[in-house]
Amino acid sequence: MTIKNVQVDHFMIPLPTVLSDSTHGIMTHFGLVTVRITDEDGNEGLGYTYTVNAGSRACAVLIEEDIVPMLLNKDADCIENLWQKVWWHLHFVGRGGLASFAIAAVDVALWDLKARKVKSPLWKLMGGNNPRVKAYAGGIDLQMPIDQLLQQTEDNLAKGLKAIKMKVGREKLSEDVDRVRAVRELIGDDITFMVDANMVWSVDHAIQAARKFADFNIHWLEEPTNPDDITGYARIQREGGVAIAAGENFHNLEEFRHLISAEGVTFVEPDVGTCGGVTPWLKIARLAESYNLKVTSHGVHDLNIQLLAAVPNATYLEIHGFGLERFLKDPLTFDDGFATAPNRPGHGVELDFERLEQYRTKI
Ligand SMILES: [Mg+2]
Repeated sequence: MTIKNVQVDHFMIPLPTVLSDSTHGIMTHFGLVTVRITDEDGNEGLGYTYTVNAGSRACAVLIEEDIVPMLLNKDADCIENLWQKVWWHLHFVGRGGLASFAIAAVDVALWDLKARKVKSPLWKLMGGNNPRVKAYAGGIDLQMPIDQLLQQTEDNLAKGLKAIKMKVGREKLSEDVDRVRAVRELIGDDITFMVDANMVWSVDHAIQAARKFADFNIHWLEEPTNPDDITGYARIQREGGVAIAAGENFHNLEEFRHLISAEGVTFVEPDVGTCGGVTPWLKIARLAESYNLKVTSHGVHDLNIQLLAAVPNATYLEIHGFGLERFLKDPLTFDDGFATAPNRPGHGVELDFERLEQYRTKI
């Protein structure tokens, strides 16, 4: 079936609460770029990507000006072929970064279209392992006062989650330790607990922090330092004594290969909305599997659950804090610490474009 129309839209959406981490500072909005692809029979697929602070409008322009002309009148089923052509078309300005965000939105729309056409949930089409996926609340809470941090934790557990993550990377390590201790004391020993430094530390500081956090049974320490310091990651994991998670700032398969082959990561964390889409996400998951590593996720949980449900080496789905569920017909719910991938055709995400309209921004 040939592609007849590609609709690209851009929205700037206020966050339900102001968020903060160690690198992106205070966040009040996020940019959402949506892509709707229609084939000659009228079948439609939806894809989307997102950014915070910068780049979303440029991403929408890149799709509209440089990718859409490559898709029109092409076979919508030949996704790998289209992916390769678009990748190499953008290679000189791409090899990851913004280009991977743009390609992701398009690739997700193509896979959604394909799965909806054959009336299969995406997770079954992609392999079909287990629709029930462990989930955790990804707090974006570095500057939150401690009483509010504890309240947020209680609210997340009340939703049916049994795993939580909080931000670290305050000015003094002793502040981080006090906050981690307070949360562990609140949740007890049976709740899985992760921390996320958003790349802020030096390698030496990260090792020191990891050793202190080990006292609180931390499931993983996420992004302790600059993602380009692959040997630094390997050293932190080796000397810190805590498993490392990373991947949200890796935007292509090769970046993951470098980190994984250097033994710099235990929990591999691709984001289908920013790594180039479903096509490379699955390759990253298989690469992790070949190293006997688990794959987790970052961001866009309504899409990522479809992929984690497809593969045998899945672990925790991050429930991301940007509040996209305000615009979804059937947001995920949680039961005994698990989320379940919906059995609707495609990825099963239906965005409320009428509600989004108020946040439309010109491309
Ligand atoms: Mg993170």
